[in-house]
Amino acid sequence: MSIKGLKVGIVGGSISGCAAATAFLRIGCDVEVFERSSHGLKDRGSGIDIPKPLCAELEDKGYLPQDYSVCEAKVRWWQFPDGSQNGRRLWTQPSPSVANNWGNLWQALRRLVPDRLYHEGKALEAFDETGETVTVRFADGSRREFDLLVGADGYHSAVRQNLHPEAEPEFADYILWRGNYPEAELEDRSLIEALDREAARLVVPFSDGHSILYMIPGSDGSTSPGKRRVNWGVYAPCPRALTLNGIESEPPGSITAEIFKDLQALLAEHFPPAIAELIGHSPREEVSIQPIYDSVVDTYVGNRTMLIGDAGTLTRPHTASGATKALEDALAIERLGSEICDLPELLLRYNSERCGRARTVSEIGRRIGRAQVVDTPDWGNMTTADFEDLIRSILSGERLYLFGDKV
Ligand SMILES: Cc1cc2nc3c(=O)[nH]c(=O)nc-3n(C[C@H](O)[C@H](O)[C@H](O)COP(=O)(O)OP(=O)(O)OC[C@H]3O[C@@H](n4cnc5c(N)ncnc54)[C@H](O)[C@@H]3O)c2cc1C
Repeated sequence: MSIKGLKVGIVGGSISGCAAATAFLRIGCDVEVFERSSHGLKDRGSGIDIPKPLCAELEDKGYLPQDYSVCEAKVRWWQFPDGSQNGRRLWTQPSPSVANNWGNLWQALRRLVPDRLYHEGKALEAFDETGETVTVRFADGSRREFDLLVGADGYHSAVRQNLHPEAEPEFADYILWRGNYPEAELEDRSLIEALDREAARLVVPFSDGHSILYMIPGSDGSTSPGKRRVNWGVYAPCPRALTLNGIESEPPGSITAEIFKDLQALLAEHFPPAIAELIGHSPREEVSIQPIYDSVVDTYVGNRTMLIGDAGTLTRPHTASGATKALEDALAIERLGSEICDLPELLLRYNSERCGRARTVSEIGRRIGRAQVVDTPDWGNMTTADFEDLIRSILSGERLYLFGDKV
């Protein structure tokens, strides 16, 4: 069956759904996107990393506009408390990437999908791919037929569940505290200015976790100092007072004062005061908690279905690969779709390229979690050579853009 003219239904209209829609439109398919949420996706205003070369490729290929705004980072400063305001620098890690504001990235991709092809308030409930077409049933009772169904429906993917009923996302036994706020709210900007001078981010490692802090563009795309947002995350054990709701995040507004005490205790015990202040600037009502899960599957494709983005593989946020993976999946679809004329062959090639790479990134994520949260070294006594050895053992012969090319 020729790819051109194929009727493609995409379930999920977030980063991967919109990017996949553009890829399939470019190879001449009839595309429709079905997004469960009815009033647009709610921007959490937080940061999302991608490699700089990927950003350039997306701009070149027209997935992102030429003036697309990002905050570039070159290094990470690993700071350790030593009684001084900023702490002692343990290591300057080469770590090139570009930080996006999630809302800006999604809006740029969403603009490429004509409104008449993007249906809101349409949740997939079930599908059947045993016949000549895929029959999709939506929660409102309507039915549609497609030649190909693309599962871009995220971490809780119904398409993945149907393809792999046995695959259960696995809790990593720790969580990520997240927050972000306008940089303009800060009275003391001295540490931010120091970071800007070297395009640096901050990492604070401690005995059972670590933090990351960096700047992202403002919601209007602004990247000038004073107009960006400060974005942070702290990986740590689950607070004692919190009963997790499975894989679901605890959204802003749901963190009780009792739960929040755990973050405050971490900041007081393990952080240099200036960094504790930057993180502690976020009020409790604006902080969220994301339980860390892994989910990998053996194949991304069925007879007439394919998975993309988080629906395919859920990797730990340490790898900064959520959007990267989704966007690379979409680029692979466009490239393969313009080389290959036959749907079974396209599915085969897509699966072999993308499913294996996602599994590799997932493994790297597990190793980062082990080394930087679960079974941490004696950070305060580490030398540059020790850090490089640690990263080499995490990578285990593979590559991840965030670690640069020095190890
Ligand atoms: C509103 C929103 C805000 C986000 N903000 C951030 C952020 O600030 N920082 C960050 O690191 N990551 C964020 N993420 C996650 C990030 O987008 C993903 O990890 C990554 O980009 C991969 O995207 P994805 O499109 O595969 O999955 P997701 O972004 O999770 O999108 C999945 C989409 O599928 C839809 N969907 C799910 N089930 C169905 C169904 N049955 N029928 C129809 N549609 C369905 C969901 O509503 C969602 O829009 C956010 C996700 C969403 C949905």
